[in-house]
This record gives sequence, structure tokens and C-alpha cells, in this order.
Amino acid sequence: MGAIAPSICRSSLFAFESSAALEAAVNGESGEYVYSRVANPTVRVLEEKVARLEGGEEGLAVASGMAAVSAVLLAFLRAGEHLVISSAAYGPAATFVRDVLEPLGVAVTRLPPAAFGDLGPHLRPNTRLVYLESPASLTFEVCDLEAAARAARAQGVATVADNSWATPIFQRPLALGVDLVLHSGTKYLGGHSDILFGVVAGSRERVAAVRRIAILLGGCLSPEDAFLAVRGLRTLPLRMARHGESSMALARRLIAHPRVRAVLHPALPFFPTHALWLRQFEGASGLFAFRLDGDPRRFCDALCVFLLGVSWGGHESLALPAVVLPEVAGRGGTRPDLPADLIRLSVGLEDPEDLWEDLERGFAAL
Ligand SMILES: *Cc1c(COP(=O)(O)O)cnc(C)c1O
Repeated sequence: MGAIAPSICRSSLFAFESSAALEAAVNGESGEYVYSRVANPTVRVLEEKVARLEGGEEGLAVASGMAAVSAVLLAFLRAGEHLVISSAAYGPAATFVRDVLEPLGVAVTRLPPAAFGDLGPHLRPNTRLVYLESPASLTFEVCDLEAAARAARAQGVATVADNSWATPIFQRPLALGVDLVLHSGTKYLGGHSDILFGVVAGSRERVAAVRRIAILLGGCLSPEDAFLAVRGLRTLPLRMARHGESSMALARRLIAHPRVRAVLHPALPFFPTHALWLRQFEGASGLFAFRLDGDPRRFCDALCVFLLGVSWGGHESLALPAVVLPEVAGRGGTRPDLPADLIRLSVGLEDPEDLWEDLERGFAAL
């Protein structure tokens, strides 16, 4: 047929010509599609692309980043077992651990990103999974994925890394020795703020274990959204290059501003984890934060080009004052380390000069 775009296969079920063919299919013997919660041809196109991009044998696509996070955690952990997770992990992932896994009887150790360089002493005989995220959510410290993977592997413990920030264009955790990589595809992989999805990639065996749980949890991706996800991937390297250049340009100008206390961007040479950054990343994306000498709400309310909102990774620039988040300490959240003067920026694809002019509008309002 020669079609260069995948077809959107909307069928929820697939019919067979004989009961023998149906029997072989439902028992997984013929490899035929049976039911779209389990497998769908359009979703499969996305899974194969993501596996290739991350350098994994197999890929899995689900309805959201959290569907990927929860399926991975539930696939590896049972009551009486032990999880090690970054204390700076994505907020809802940390909340899932606290509100679902711990009440089910999973023991949890939370380590600051810097501690993963010497993980061995924190592993126990019942440790089953190490959950990594690099750079850290909101504070952007880089975590030593290679050292963590080595220490975990030596004890037979599996590792997973959330690679949503860098995407496989700028960091490939599987090549650093990590067993599984996951993404909120909602962010850069999709790239246009019009779909939610999550992906997992890694070895055939480990992804199969996660897929089994993901199918039971029921958070399957729609074929329509899988099509848009594949379409987003076409421009991923171009978008990432632009996000990175613009975020670096803005970060450098922010450092020099008298009303900025600090810029939290792992690609800046003075950032504490920069040596590790140089080893594990090939470029920067568009998400970083800075600490403002002034009222972050007042600053953000003056912006016109940057929109105010959660999420990130789309074409449009976004600003988020950390004080509004449920993660912050004052709301009983999971991130007591978050400074109240922090503003996160997701630098989009607009002209960086327009973005800088907008930030100057924010400073002028202080
Ligand atoms: C947004 C996000 C997630 C969750 O993804 P959803 O698609 O919103 O469910 C997971 N990890 C990180 C780092 C994120 O930013």
C-alpha cells in the first residue's frame, strides 16, 4: 500500500474464521490481535518505535505516565518486599508509593538524588526495585544512574528510570545499565499538549512482566492517541534541540539578573551535579527552575507569553510557582525540600527573545 503514516485501527476486538483460530489467538499461541486492551496494531507501532529509541528489546505504551509508573511498581513489588526510591521523584509517583504501596505492606527507603552514587549500603535482602529519576523533579539534581544500576545489579535488584525530562535524544538509561526506562509521553514524546500517554522500554522479559500488570490495571492507550504520539515522535529531535537552546539562553540571562537567587538547570557549569551531567547527558531539554528574590505569584501573574499551568514538554511555554503545588511541605506534601521562592519554567518553541521580554515583564511587576 505504501502508506507512510500508520492506520488508526479503532477495532476493540478482532474476529476469527474458526473456533480453532480463536482458541489459538486467545491463548497467545498465534500472536494474532484479540482485544485492544491487550494489544492493538496502532499502539504496537508506537511501542516498537519507543523500544528502538531507548535501545530496548521491547516497548509498552499505556494511557498515561502514571499508568506506566503504577504498572512498573506493582509488577515488581509484593507485601514484605522493599523499594528504594528517590526522595525527589515526581510527586504523584511518590504519593502512589506512600498511599498505595506502603499500606499494602511494601517497605520503602527514600534517598536524596546524591545518595544513589553509593547505593549498596541501602539495599536489603528483600529489595526488589530501585526507582530513579534523573534529573530530579522540580530541583533538577542529576542522579548517578550508572553507579546505581551497577550496585543494584550486583545484588540482583531491578532498576527503573523515569527519562521524561531528557527523552532518549539526550539520555539513554538502558545503555547506562538501568533495566527499565519509563516516560510520561504526555511531555516531550507527544510534544503538543494534546494527548496523555506513558511508555516503558527494556528487556523482553521485564517489559512482559510490566505488560501483564498494565493489562490487568486496564489503563490501555487509545489507537487515536497512539497515532498522535507517533506523529509527535517524528519531530522529537528537532523540538528537543530547540527546547534545549532556548532554555540555556534564558537560564544564562536569568543567572545575571539581580532578582534571581539561583538557577536550577543541570546543564549550567556551576550546578552542583554538573560533572555527572557531562557523563550521562548529551543535551538539555526545556524544563528548569529558578529562585526568585520576590513574590513568585506576582511575577507569574504578570507573564503573557508563558502560560500558567502544570505539565510541560509542549510547544507552549509554561510557568509554575512551586508554592501552589500540593507537593510543598505546608500542604503535607512529599517534597519538604522545595523552596517557596522556586518558579519552574517549561521553555516552549516560541522565539526566545519574546520569552525573555516576557520574563522582564515579570521582574518589572515585583
Ligand atoms: C508528568 C510526569 C509523570 C506522569 O505522567 P502523566 O502522563 O501525567 O500520567 C511521570 N513522571 C514525570 C517526571 C512527569 O513529569
